[in-house]
Amino acid sequence: MSVQSGQQIARLRETVARLHAELTRYGLVAWTAGNVSARVPGRDLMVIKPSGVDYDDLSADNMVVCDLDGAVVEGDHSPSSDTAAHAYVYRAMPEVGGVVHTHSTYATAWAARGEAIPCHLTAQADEFGGEIPIGPFALIGGDDIGKGIVSTLTGHRSPAVLMRNHGVFTIGRDARAAVKAAVMCEDVARTAHLARALGQPVPIDPADVDALYDRYQNVYGQRPVSPTNT
Ligand SMILES: [Zn+2]
Repeated sequence: MSVQSGQQIARLRETVARLHAELTRYGLVAWTAGNVSARVPGRDLMVIKPSGVDYDDLSADNMVVCDLDGAVVEGDHSPSSDTAAHAYVYRAMPEVGGVVHTHSTYATAWAARGEAIPCHLTAQADEFGGEIPIGPFALIGGDDIGKGIVSTLTGHRSPAVLMRNHGVFTIGRDARAAVKAAVMCEDVARTAHLARALGQPVPIDPADVDALYDRYQNVYGQRPVSPTNT
């Protein structure tokens, strides 16, 4: 392995370890459930959480480097039991640089009912571009979960899928974007649940969903300031 790619992997180990703290900070995980991974750019490798290690004990050193068939390349621990699903997504979706899995409470309650979260909130239109879809029921082990994630999210605006009776998988251009999607998914799932409990939520016109999504994805946020514009 070249020095450059060794440094790249070392940085990703730090990043992936640190991002796991966001899952506990936002209350998305219980015990050792949940995991974050990142693709190593330009390499058929990913960095992923070790299996069964307490969140407080996660560090750059105990992250696991796997190939995109899920085989361990570097690390002293077994990788997450969801490694096959993450690997399948990276093989099938080259644009994806990060994958997150949680059983966050409200989103998983929608998954338990097998019900997509309809888009009744502008924040959901911004981040997800419409409903958050339901994926198929799939048993862990093998490629079934990965296939369900890819078949549901391919061609869909949403970076999150609610795998039926299971929980949330999110994708992003990098691991941080996938973590953000997991946080926002739980946030809109909770609000949608409360709105449904209190009455009938009001739909947003699909044209307005499109406009919100386009603005948020293409215009919103910090951009470099041009010299003529300061
Ligand atoms: Zn799970």
